[in-house]
Amino acid sequence: MRIVLVGPPGAGKGTQAQYLAKNLSIPHISTGDLFRANISQGTPLGKRAQEYTKAGRLVPDEVTVGMAQERMSRPDAAHGFLLDGFPRNLNQAEALTSFLAQQSLTLDAVLELEVPEVEVVKRIAGRRLCRKDGAHVFHVEYNPPKVEGVCDICGGELYQRDDDTEEAVRVRLDEYHIKTEPIIDYYKAQGLVVTIAALGSVQEVTGRAMDALQPRVA
Ligand code: AMP
Repeated sequence: MRIVLVGPPGAGKGTQAQYLAKNLSIPHISTGDLFRANISQGTPLGKRAQEYTKAGRLVPDEVTVGMAQERMSRPDAAHGFLLDGFPRNLNQAEALTSFLAQQSLTLDAVLELEVPEVEVVKRIAGRRLCRKDGAHVFHVEYNPPKVEGVCDICGGELYQRDDDTEEAVRVRLDEYHIKTEPIIDYYKAQGLVVTIAALGSVQEVTGRAMDALQPRVA
């Protein structure tokens, strides 16, 4: 089962991906998490990516596509994956199509999370991530951890992303509208897009997503 999750920054892709991947027994692959891990480890790839991620701009494709392909080639992804944050432009979407085609594979669904822009800004401002595992995402108001500043799942320290500032968020939203939204039409033309409203509790959205995906993954 191969699924792409798409939606604006703050739509809850990371949060939903965590639950959906578990329900569907496939690995959650987030290019944003991979960049953050490389940045915190100070790898050459991380050093290259940091100037872009911090400003809210897309990291160049020659860095991103190779990194995503390497991750998708690992054994745990042999039977499927849930992509979160990749592809983010048409060139990456086409690179993904050819990468899969080389293995006679295709995507099963593209799940679009729809959320109004005012909501996105509120969500991002209160978002907190776990230092030990970036897939553990909380919100000070909407999804608070039991103990302030501590991850419920693994006890890691919670922090605010350095691209969750007002200025970087504006850039990220522009990048989304200009570069990422066109991939939705690309996938619509292939009949792959399933759109759900991403408003409501985390559990409600997961339920809606599972219902929407059911006919495609059965
Ligand atoms: P995310 O955690 O998905 O919001 O990604 C955080 C940041 O990582 C983005 O704002 C970009 O700077 C970078 N990034 C993540 N995925 C991609 C991608 N597919 N293409 C280019 N840049 C990306």
